[in-house]
Amino acid sequence: MLSIAIRILSAILLIWLFRRLLGMFLGSARANRPKDQTGASSNHMVKDPVCGMYMDARLAVRLKTNGEDFYFCSEDCKNKYLSQSAGSAGNSASG
Ligand SMILES: [Zn+2]
Repeated sequence: MLSIAIRILSAILLIWLFRRLLGMFLGSARANRPKDQTGASSNHMVKDPVCGMYMDARLAVRLKTNGEDFYFCSEDCKNKYLSQSAGSAGNSASG
């Protein structure tokens, strides 16, 4: 009688392990993508570091610095960011 119980337990354990592995596999596949948008085409949303607004990367004002890309809602925010980073980086011109 005991062997039957052990068999059932091992079967449950196997199923549990299999489901865990399957979940990990599916989870990693899903993690590659950002949040699923309702639209068919995946539009890349970016955040403006100055005012915190989210917008489409294609519509945003783009700024390339030391290998990093920054996106802004307008030239105004871009200029604000540039003046801020210039001030914190070191000596800036008089003004
Ligand atoms: Zn902005």
